[in-house]
Amino acid sequence: MSLDLDQISVRKINGVSALKEGELHAFGVSTVKELLEYYPFRYEDYRLRSLSEVKDGERVTIQAKIAGAPVLQRYGGKSRLTCKMLAENWMFSATWFNRHFLKEQLTAGREIVLTGKWDQRRLQLTVSESDFPDKGISRSGTLQPVYSIGGKITQAWIRKTMNQALQQYGEMIPEILPPHLIQKYRLMPRKQAIAGIHQPSDTGEGQQARRRMVYEELFLFQLKMQAYRALNHGKMDGVVHTADNTTIREFVRSLPFELTDAQKKVELEILHDMRSPYCMNRLLQGDVGSGKTVVAAIALYTTVRSGNQGALMVPTEILAEQHMRSLQRMFQPFGVTVALLTGSVTGKKRKDVLASLQMGLTDIVVGTHALIQEEVFFRQLGLVVTDEQHRFGVNQRSVLRRKGYNPDVLTMTATPIPRTMAITAFGDMDVSTLSERPKGRIPITTHWVKHDMMDRVLGFIRREVDQGRQAYLICPLIEESDKLDVQNAIDLHVQMQQAFPQFKVGLLHGRMTSGEKDEVMRDFYSNDLQLLISTTVVEVGVDVPNATLMVIMDADRFGLSQLHQLRGRVGRGAHASFCILVADPKSEVGRERMEVMTDTEDGFEVARRDLDLRGPGDFFGTKQSGLPEFRLADMVADYEVVEQAREDAAALVSDASFWTSPSYSLLREHLRKEQVFQGDLID
Ligand code: ADP
Ligand code: MG
Repeated sequence: MSLDLDQISVRKINGVSALKEGELHAFGVSTVKELLEYYPFRYEDYRLRSLSEVKDGERVTIQAKIAGAPVLQRYGGKSRLTCKMLAENWMFSATWFNRHFLKEQLTAGREIVLTGKWDQRRLQLTVSESDFPDKGISRSGTLQPVYSIGGKITQAWIRKTMNQALQQYGEMIPEILPPHLIQKYRLMPRKQAIAGIHQPSDTGEGQQARRRMVYEELFLFQLKMQAYRALNHGKMDGVVHTADNTTIREFVRSLPFELTDAQKKVELEILHDMRSPYCMNRLLQGDVGSGKTVVAAIALYTTVRSGNQGALMVPTEILAEQHMRSLQRMFQPFGVTVALLTGSVTGKKRKDVLASLQMGLTDIVVGTHALIQEEVFFRQLGLVVTDEQHRFGVNQRSVLRRKGYNPDVLTMTATPIPRTMAITAFGDMDVSTLSERPKGRIPITTHWVKHDMMDRVLGFIRREVDQGRQAYLICPLIEESDKLDVQNAIDLHVQMQQAFPQFKVGLLHGRMTSGEKDEVMRDFYSNDLQLLISTTVVEVGVDVPNATLMVIMDADRFGLSQLHQLRGRVGRGAHASFCILVADPKSEVGRERMEVMTDTEDGFEVARRDLDLRGPGDFFGTKQSGLPEFRLADMVADYEVVEQAREDAAALVSDASFWTSPSYSLLREHLRKEQVFQGDLID
């Protein structure tokens, strides 16, 4: 086996001193492999042009002849060097700043290649880079890579070093993709592609090199996900759920409604996983109001009736309480016990909950994130259901698995995710989709109004509440800010109390204690409050079917998926519901968001357009997005490749020879380094 490039320190590259090594280290580069995979983010065009076609202010590279003696001026610690040049029939002056050492080399008659900014009026070129064709190496005529570096490392230095690394080690770059895939997509060999990314001879070569490396990057990522999936599903002894169908049907029949076809289909997928010895790792996605909670309840019931305990993790305490109440209502007739465990359950109560969980006296626990981390022990945990925002990275998910339980895992997300992103962020999971909402729902009517129509909005609120309904009013801010001129909840609360003395108006925001929040929510659930002024704390999951009006102040301040989630708080009962967006958007994006919201009520469509507007990086928000950062690939632009790579990776890992044949040893090595598995072979 040849020496691995990731075993060779960058120090071995000629010209890399200990000092430079340290600086490269700051960019995460310490081996030759890492250096070669440090790709440029764009190219600078050094192809030679004629001054006659250059516009004022443009950056240009030209070849010229030195036509006079250089003049050096020094001031302070700085210097300015000027020299007359001749290019074709243009006489002009070239100016360098702080390059006094070049003076000796500027001898009349010598050819020089200059890159810089052209000043048409003064016939002057401010030089950023220059070199001499008679010295051999020249940038002229090429595309030069631009790297994202800084500190003491200059673009010139890293280009030179990259070139040196390619000279010394280029031949050792191993091919990693299987030949059948290289052929299938007519990809460049890896060696050539890496060289081509750093030093493309022309735009075409650069594009082909990038195409190859984008595929490789997505393929390796998907391989990791598919291998996880294959290993977890194939090798682990998950909980086998044994509850018989009659028992489960009995519970389903007790629900106050019939399941939708989508719910039935998803229920089958989940029960199939739960009954098998494989560890379920399933994503349940569905638009707001599609009825995910009920599906989760059926799964939880199944785990309990199979002799296990279940856990439901949700992002907020308000939600935990809500789910706790609705599960209790559903499970009470069947004698299934439900406990609540959040940060505000303390003291003796907490001790009791923990003890009864450990002894197996509690069947189901509903709680926040802390649920699986702290001093919580189960007697026999069979199923974990997590609501969105607990998007674990793939590694964290397997840590949860290895905690000694091996429970089945069902992850729910209320943010419909475009398929490319779903298979990227959740590539190791099976996906179930609730594609329809319960029948009989009346569509939510969405209006966009400007602030000067606030009087009519108030009239609308009065009409709904007079008819016995409830309304939400959402603000971007809690309290007044001198930086932002947008509606704040505290002021609006006062105004609404004055505007509607006949109604009870509540206030809810993130700075209240959870006890205060719960009280307000309880009052809203029970219609003791008719109007709720709130920040986005009600965004996810809150279910008050009698609320029919959602007014969102300064709506252009919110992201699309947030707006869609907020809108999803209404339209949950039998009455017609409305969403009113109050906004005078200043930006194009803000206006677009309002248009998307009034155009469609379909969460998947909203998500697609959101992705177009924002790009994948912002789509999930940054925290715990579960989305990997790709060096080259772009999930929107390269979405077709994402799909192909996934198919190819899935096919490969399902082929038994992948795990044994020497032709895949480099790929297996890659998986080992990514900690998909340990040891030599998987038996
Ligand atoms: P999601 O979590 O997907 O936003 P929920 O599970 O909160 O949706 O369900 C929204 C509302 O629809 C709840 O009030 C729930 O009781 C009700 N619901 C769920 N499934 C059905 C159904 N099949 N038919 C009628 N109503 C349903
Ligand atoms: Mg829900």
